[in-house]
Amino acid sequence: MTYVIAQPCVDIKDRACVTECPVDCIYEGARTLYINPAECVDCHACEPVCPVEAIFHEDDLPRHWAHYLTVNAEYFDEAASLPRPGSDTVGDHPVVEALPPQSGPHKKEISFFTVRKEEAADADLWFPS
Ligand code: SF4
Ligand code: SF4
Repeated sequence: MTYVIAQPCVDIKDRACVTECPVDCIYEGARTLYINPAECVDCHACEPVCPVEAIFHEDDLPRHWAHYLTVNAEYFDEAASLPRPGSDTVGDHPVVEALPPQSGPHKKEISFFTVRKEEAADADLWFPS
């Protein structure tokens, strides 16, 4: 079992989750972060601190982001030859690379505040879309 970073992290990358992870298994790509499923110990520490609710247990991934389980896993699959951490060029999984810019002013403003997940509903009131 693993936790998974899905699309809301793209172009946000505030790294709040990185400081919470006890095993340093969250890695930074060019536009998003990725959880290495081979290293994740399923501790849940990262999920509540994400200000944009991008982190899910693999069993709880919304259907429209279900493919991010594969996106995170393939990022660390040497056979996929992706520009992952440790290589000369840090890049992204092709699914992420293909996305148009994700960070509108609404998401950027929320990210300044490192709000906890349970406060995210209030944050939506501060910055109505
Ligand atoms: S669930 Fe725990 S081990 Fe897995 S990525 Fe999150 S903080 Fe790290
Ligand atoms: S806390 Fe959320 S938005 Fe911030 S880097 Fe981690 S997954 Fe991305």
